[in-house]
Amino acid sequence: MTRAERVRALLDEYARQRYQNEREQREREREAFARDPELEALRARSVSLAAQSLRAAMNEPDADKRRAIAGDMRQKGALLNAETRRRLRALGLPEDYLEEHYRCPVCRDTGYVGDAPARFCACFERRLAMGEQSGQGAQTFEAFNAAFVPEENGQRARLLEAKGLLEEFADRYPQARWRNIVLSGAGGLGKSFLLNCVYERVNSRGFAATRTTAYRMFDAMRRRHVGDAEDADGFAALLETPFLLVDDLGTEPMMRNITVEYLFLLINERMEAGLSTMATTNLTPAQIQERYGERVCSRLFDRASALTIKLEGKDLRLHGIR
Ligand SMILES: [Zn+2]
Repeated sequence: MTRAERVRALLDEYARQRYQNEREQREREREAFARDPELEALRARSVSLAAQSLRAAMNEPDADKRRAIAGDMRQKGALLNAETRRRLRALGLPEDYLEEHYRCPVCRDTGYVGDAPARFCACFERRLAMGEQSGQGAQTFEAFNAAFVPEENGQRARLLEAKGLLEEFADRYPQARWRNIVLSGAGGLGKSFLLNCVYERVNSRGFAATRTTAYRMFDAMRRRHVGDAEDADGFAALLETPFLLVDDLGTEPMMRNITVEYLFLLINERMEAGLSTMATTNLTPAQIQERYGERVCSRLFDRASALTIKLEGKDLRLHGIR
């Protein structure tokens, strides 16, 4: 990977992190609101207080009175916040339970700090440098080294078996035994590494392939849905590429009328056209069914054409692969 590609991949990861932060915050909200409905009422009062004050300030020509409105809003807001914190404590929850939590509070998981021209946050620079050291430029079957993988519980044997099947696929594509591949398992087991190996091998044999993340795939779907003319080819390219590799399926945002519908369209059209698709995912088949429904699931795991590999074991990042 070039530096530009690494930056883009890392920015994708940061975007996914932000969506996850929001999801987790909404989940905490749902839980807290269910246990104490007054918390939801307090949230609603805070929102309407801010909106009302803003409107009043905009319609007030006198600067002193505008300041008074702002001061009044702060005071009332502080009272509402204090009551919220008190109620959270009463539930045995942390006071910041309803706020968004960030992996990096400095950049709020955007990867950037400062106004234009913004620069990369220290956390982003660190991650970028880490990727350079661990040699992300060489995610190939040749560079694959199972010596890092713990032998216990058959983890190394399973990974080697997965590698063997994927290498067979990549060497025989497009005449391989399977048309589609789903590589599942928890994070850090080397799924992305293996996806990159397959991509590199197929590419180096002279076949066109497109590698993307679930997040970028979703972005193309969303743009197609809203008719973004500038990116009209994004989704079409995913439909038409002879071999599509999607990393991290399941981490893309779930948006009504988009995610499930377009994913089904994508998989279905590609299968009808006889094109190959590979996906890695942290989700189990049951979770895939729950998230995307039966139609997507039955296409994805179609017995006649799909190879499903499940990796299990310990996080390999701790052992140096990746
Ligand atoms: Zn940061």
